[in-house]
Amino acid sequence: MGKSSALSNRCGKQWGIDIGGTTTILGYLKPGGFEKVESLKTDPSSGPDSLLRRIGKVVSKVGGVPLCAGAGIAGLVNTKDGLLIFSPNLAGWNDYPLREKLSDILKCPVVIDNDCNVFALQAIELSRIPSEGLWLMITVGTGIGGTIVQDGTIVYGTGYAGEFGHMTVEASGITCPCGSRGCWERYAASAALSDYYNKHTNETTHHTPKEIALLASMNKVPALKAYEEFGTWLGIGLANLYHCFSPAGVYLAGGLMGASKFFLEDAESEFHRRCNCEWNVNVLPSCSEAGAEGAAIMGRNRTG
Ligand SMILES: [Zn+2]
Repeated sequence: MGKSSALSNRCGKQWGIDIGGTTTILGYLKPGGFEKVESLKTDPSSGPDSLLRRIGKVVSKVGGVPLCAGAGIAGLVNTKDGLLIFSPNLAGWNDYPLREKLSDILKCPVVIDNDCNVFALQAIELSRIPSEGLWLMITVGTGIGGTIVQDGTIVYGTGYAGEFGHMTVEASGITCPCGSRGCWERYAASAALSDYYNKHTNETTHHTPKEIALLASMNKVPALKAYEEFGTWLGIGLANLYHCFSPAGVYLAGGLMGASKFFLEDAESEFHRRCNCEWNVNVLPSCSEAGAEGAAIMGRNRTG
């Protein structure tokens, strides 16, 4: 190995990877920000090894041995042992040693965490979440992710705190891939929005949130009604969380928040029907690479 390779090793990039149920985004930290390099289809049915090989190819194409990497993944993560325990949106990826496998492929130290937690780390780093008080971060997309932030630090409990999406909101409700039923994310995430729309149109095809947002912006009644129902269920969950945590406020983010003007007022009305707390619910600006940037920040901060 020559002098230049040794130098490139020392100057390696700090990579961040955000593995979602649908899309995986990766890039690295650069002075003053984050450089997104690639967006891959996660393709859960091909299994985690296949995705990791594709990640490895992207990283090696950019060149240089990474200094470190962080990965956020949509699911229950054992951060201590570096395992993905289970993910309702990544069927079959159970007890997967993600940290070790990724570290082998990238040849650098790796840390992993739940995707909402890494998203929150980016918001903490950029001072979007205040550094004092208790705040909740909730991402709403394919599922619902949650993070509890106390004085700028993520609260883990015994390791898995913040799984708000699997809080029961309907005792005999719809079954959930997590094994329970009536989970909040079955009522206030993207599949539910499509179901509400279909209920009002008697259609059976799946509609993306983007399509329904477009229809709502054209004042199509079924789309507006679908958002009303969606907002009501969002408000029910938020009231529960306020009762449990008495937070200084909540930050909402994720794929569905771009259309928040169609449902946030309904959420607030439902919230006030169920809770006397002061409504302090804010929407973070949408940015598809925030999770990957947060993962890179985590890698930098925790691999020391
Ligand atoms: Zn569930």
